[in-house]
Amino acid sequence: MPTLHGKILDLLLPFERLDDASQQALEVVFRHFFTNCGKPEVALPSIWLWGGWAGWWMTRVAQAEGITFGRHVFLEPAAVARLLEHPPGARLDALLVHEATHVRQYVEAGTARFLWRYLRDYAGLLWKQRSLSAQARQAAYWNIPYEVEARAVESFFQRLGQKL
Ligand SMILES: [Zn+2]
Repeated sequence: MPTLHGKILDLLLPFERLDDASQQALEVVFRHFFTNCGKPEVALPSIWLWGGWAGWWMTRVAQAEGITFGRHVFLEPAAVARLLEHPPGARLDALLVHEATHVRQYVEAGTARFLWRYLRDYAGLLWKQRSLSAQARQAAYWNIPYEVEARAVESFFQRLGQKL
């Protein structure tokens, strides 16, 4: 399968559209995963990757390696460089699968509903713990159903041993 990693230097530029081969590989992964879950197929829009200052700023605000709004995936440039050092790019692929799952969730629910559910679930999980500590925030984030699903697709992809 063609690889995204040859284009990694481009990722550090402000933005680029995810290449067709990687996009198609994602669609195959999603088709397998979500058909098994009994979920309908969703047409995935072209995904845009943002690095550079936009990626740096957005991920800094979110305190994450990646964050997704609609079809736009923002990646922390330093994290991209770091993830590429793991067994050739394996973790970067997994991060992209994770973020692309959020793109799919946006499409499935609609942007407003996705954001509402995401924040409602996060707030609800925080409320249950009666704490705003870093640990409580991390636990709440970890258990948001949309995050649980994105991690499930990510590990499914890793078990397949495929590359984007
Ligand atoms: Zn996520």
